[in-house]
Amino acid sequence: MNLEDINSVKNLLSTPQKIVIVPHKNPDGDAIGSTVALWHYLKNMGQDVDVVSPNDFPDFLKWIPGNEAILNFEKENSQSKDRISKATLIFTLDFNHLSRIGQMQNYLSEATAQFIMIDHHQAPADYAKITYSDVSMSSTCEMVYNFIEYLNDTDKITPEIATCIYTGIMTDTGSFKFRSTTSRTHRVIADLIDKGAQNTEIHHQIYDTNNSSRLKLLGIALNNMVILNDYNTAYITLTQEELNSCDYKKGDTEGFVNYGLTLKGIKFAVIFIENSEEGIIKISFRSVGDFSVNQFARNHFEGGGHDNAAGGKSDLSINETTEKFTKLLENYKTDLI
Ligand code: 5GP
Ligand code: MN
Repeated sequence: MNLEDINSVKNLLSTPQKIVIVPHKNPDGDAIGSTVALWHYLKNMGQDVDVVSPNDFPDFLKWIPGNEAILNFEKENSQSKDRISKATLIFTLDFNHLSRIGQMQNYLSEATAQFIMIDHHQAPADYAKITYSDVSMSSTCEMVYNFIEYLNDTDKITPEIATCIYTGIMTDTGSFKFRSTTSRTHRVIADLIDKGAQNTEIHHQIYDTNNSSRLKLLGIALNNMVILNDYNTAYITLTQEELNSCDYKKGDTEGFVNYGLTLKGIKFAVIFIENSEEGIIKISFRSVGDFSVNQFARNHFEGGGHDNAAGGKSDLSINETTEKFTKLLENYKTDLI
């Protein structure tokens, strides 16, 4: 953030505001961690503040300190709309285009509030008074730490805030292994541990709270994996029927796509997940090295994200989608081998 923006934020927060903080739809660890961290920080400052999520978030995040205060736009609809319409300041975190919040888009675009965006995805839209966008950042959570630092308030990072920020950095960096993880990321993490984040406990809460049906679903996913050695690509499919057979709940497939990349030589891993209710195939793309899945998702599957992690969707059937995908690979052969 530049000095002008920092002063502008300081100025806004020096008076009482009605604040709404919004993560993207189907929020992940970074989206929930960053919104709830900011919620604690602004609440402790004495501001009137709510987090309104476009929909529910996964069970593996339901221990995060403060998660119980999140309003679910789908379930607490009139209350959420009321907060949005009365807001004077809206923070949008971990996304940069209002199309990423589903139905809530209509209400946010009509809101009279001023917007502040904090985000690390590519190609930010131009809807915010203050846009803090940095694609080099590991996570929006690391940016929330920076945001608090810009306001000279790192001494106000409580154990709860430290826990939220730690969680989002950890989940968005694949436990500190992705390319976006810098020495600065580790310094921030070290400071969060000093400020009360229980690192071992956080890893345990996120990664070691599987249930047997989720592991069974992972078994099906791995069994369905198709390896295309000619393109150094591996993809997984999961049909709605397979999901149902394992009592699927939101978040259960988190991380499955990464298994493709654990195969030696594989540079591009994809998972196609059927969602009958929305009539779409939700797709996650991951890569190692220079192949930009952000561009691939943007060009062919109405999506986007980062160079090495992106998402998208398809309105075709699951078989038609994988056929389309396999045909497309032909055009990328030189980038993948
Ligand atoms: P995931 O595959 O874990 O859902 O998402 C990977 C990354 O891509 C995340 O940073 C996420 O925000 C982004 N992403 C996922 N789905 C979409 C989508 O449909 N559109 C855009 N623009 N980004 C997406
Ligand atoms: Mn993120």
